[in-house]
Amino acid sequence: MPEKYDLHCHSTASDGTLSPTGLVQRAKNNGVTCLSLTDHDTTAGIIEAQTTADKIGIKLIPGVELSANWENKTLHIIGLNIKPASPELSRGIKNLQTTRKERAEKISLKLAKKNIDGALEAVKKLAGKGMITRLHFANFLVSNNHVATQQKAFDKFLGKGKPAFVTTQWPELETTVSWILDSGGIPIVAHPLRYKLSASWMARLLSAFKDMGGEAIEVVTGRSSAEEIYISGKYAKKFGLAGSIGSDFHSPDNVWVELGRLAELPSEIKPVWNLLD
Ligand code: AMP
Ligand code: MN
Ligand code: MN
Ligand code: MN
Repeated sequence: MPEKYDLHCHSTASDGTLSPTGLVQRAKNNGVTCLSLTDHDTTAGIIEAQTTADKIGIKLIPGVELSANWENKTLHIIGLNIKPASPELSRGIKNLQTTRKERAEKISLKLAKKNIDGALEAVKKLAGKGMITRLHFANFLVSNNHVATQQKAFDKFLGKGKPAFVTTQWPELETTVSWILDSGGIPIVAHPLRYKLSASWMARLLSAFKDMGGEAIEVVTGRSSAEEIYISGKYAKKFGLAGSIGSDFHSPDNVWVELGRLAELPSEIKPVWNLLD
C-alpha cells in the first residue's frame, strides 16, 4: 500500500480545534499513513499524539512550526522529525512561549484602544494550555461580532499594518534552523508562496536557507492550486531542496482544508520523506 503523507497540521496545543488524539484519529480515518503534528512554537501535543498513533496504527513524526525572522519578515519553518527534548530546541521553544504571551498582552492593549475589551481573558480561555496565536484573537473578534469572518479580523485588526498588529522579535532564521538541525530534524520552509516575496527575494531566501542547512520547502499545501504547486516545485528544483506536502489543517470547521486531502508531490521533486531515517 502506498504511503499517504500529511506533514503539517495543528492541534489544541496551538491554534487547532482538535486534541492531538482527535487529530490523529481523523487523519487515520482519512487514510493518512504518516502524519506530522506541527503546532506553532510548541511540541506539547506530541506525546499524546504519539500514544494515540501507536494505539491505532498510524505513523506519527514529531514536528513543530517555528516562527522566525528573516530580513524583517516573519517566516514559518517546519522542523520535521525533531527530538522535542533536545536542549537547544526546547530552550528556544520556551523563550518563544514567553514571546507569545507578551505579544498577546500587547495585542489585547491595542484592541482595548479600539474599544474592544476583554480580549486577553477571552483568548487565554480559547487557547487553554495551548499557545496563543492571532487565530485565537480572530475567533474572539468573530464570536463577539466585531467582524464577520476570521479573514476580516486579519484585514481589519490583526494583519500587518492594522491597528492591533504587534511587531514581534521572532528568533532569526539561522538560529531557528540551527535548533532544528541540532535536534536531528529537517528544516522546511512552510507555505513559501504565502510570504508574497518577489522572485528575487524568494531566490535570496532559498539560497540563504540552503546555506544555513535548510533542506526542503513545502511544495503542496491543503490550499495549493496546480499553478502554485508548479511554481513551488520549480523553486525546490532550482535551489536543490526537497519537497514536502502538508495540509496545514486547523479545524473541521474550515471545509476548504482537510487532513490528508492533498495533491501529489510532482514526481520530479525529491520527496522530503526520503530524507527520514
Ligand atoms: P500567529 O503565528 O500568532 O501570528 O498566527 C498566525 C496564524 O493565524 C496562522 O497560523 C493561521 O492559523 C492564522 N492566520 C493567519 N492569517 C490568516 C488569515 N488571513 N485568515 C485566517 N487565519 C489566518
Ligand atoms: Mn495557525
Ligand atoms: Mn504557517
Ligand atoms: Mn501551520
